Amino acid sequence: MTASPVAPAALESLLDLDRAHVWHPYASMTDPAPTRLVTGARGVRLTLGDGSEVVDGMSSWWAAIHGYNHPTLNAALARQADDVAHVMFGGLTHEPAIRLAQRLVELAPAGLEHVFLADSGSVSVEVALKMVLQYQRGVGHPERTRMLTVRGGYHGDTFGCMGVCDPVGGMHSMFADLLPRQVFAPRPPATEDGVAAWAAAFEEVAAEHAHELAGIVVEPLLQGAGGMYVYPAACLTVMREVADRHGLVLVLDEIATGFGRTGTFFAAEAAGVVPDVLCVGKALTGGYLTLAAVLCTPRIAAGLSHSESGVLMHGPTYMGNPLACAVALASLDLLATGAWREQVARVNAGLEAGLAPLRHLPGVVDVRTLGAVGVVQLDHPVDVGKATEAALGHGVWLRPFRDLIYTMPPYVTSDEDVASICTAIEAAAVVA
Ligand SMILES: *Cc1c(COP(=O)(O)O)cnc(C)c1O
Repeated sequence: MTASPVAPAALESLLDLDRAHVWHPYASMTDPAPTRLVTGARGVRLTLGDGSEVVDGMSSWWAAIHGYNHPTLNAALARQADDVAHVMFGGLTHEPAIRLAQRLVELAPAGLEHVFLADSGSVSVEVALKMVLQYQRGVGHPERTRMLTVRGGYHGDTFGCMGVCDPVGGMHSMFADLLPRQVFAPRPPATEDGVAAWAAAFEEVAAEHAHELAGIVVEPLLQGAGGMYVYPAACLTVMREVADRHGLVLVLDEIATGFGRTGTFFAAEAAGVVPDVLCVGKALTGGYLTLAAVLCTPRIAAGLSHSESGVLMHGPTYMGNPLACAVALASLDLLATGAWREQVARVNAGLEAGLAPLRHLPGVVDVRTLGAVGVVQLDHPVDVGKATEAALGHGVWLRPFRDLIYTMPPYVTSDEDVASICTAIEAAAVVA
């Protein structure tokens, strides 16, 4: 069954109410940008208010990796709703959370044995930062309070997260004076030949601040919302070595990269690096419900338990929501078939073939792909309105930002639909 079109008057009235009352992400309420009504979603397609269908080149902000309205995910959700939709996690537990923690531990790099379930990616990063600080207090280093990170990063929108986002180009630079003063090393290089010089600079910053540093937090291989920068796996090895040399906790934020997006199950696997703390989110539930998780090693858990409180001081109301855990388990079942490997490789080949020619378009400064990620960078900020219209004209939903037109489609996107996405990106790049 496909959603039928909304009558034009009803559609207009809904969008009027939206403009009057509903705040959208990174949006103005006094001068709202246009929004489109979605009435249905199945496979890789969204149905819009006028009844048209568009390929979702964004996977709903990188989460809907299996596509929409997936029978396995729908069934898991319905089953769980019949059992228990939610219950507090303080003093109570339930099988979906237990099984999910068990599965995440099995899937994560060896040594990450403990799981804290958070209710969004940003909250998971907050929890990771708190773990790091409590660990350092527990092991006798209360003076180690700052995080080392790299420029160009994005780790979420809450205050702790904003503090480790790119301080200059990032979307939170206006709050710079209010944020914890973290330590920033240069952005990792795009290619192997830049690694040695970058490693020396990274080590230098770490050594200079080592006495006050608690940990390192970075996105492995792909810096997402901070600018879609791809960097060599060798940089992760450097970060691991620097963390060990200076007694720092290494936190890898795999909220964007986890669950196959970059071609390995976790991006850190490309370097064989095991972090002390790992954050996952976004695609964890296959795009169905908000859920994230923080994994850590027994060493971190033991150190933390010697801090003043003895416990991890965090506990969201909807912690470990059973519906979210059940659908996450079902999503991991789909990934367990291993089909994602071939799908991501195939999407990558399609993006390579479709986007490479855009290198020669006027205004295009770079084209890069990694796994099921394709990025076209312009020499000017994208006119988002024009770019969106152009992409929709080719039957594709894209959401460019800054100077970037990019796609992170569902893994199940067909070759034909990947080709349409590339055509839409080209059309957007031409008008933007
Ligand atoms: C999206 C994202 C976050 C924040 O996750 P939310 O669920 O939006 O709070 C943090 N880190 C990275 C790398 C992300 O891509």
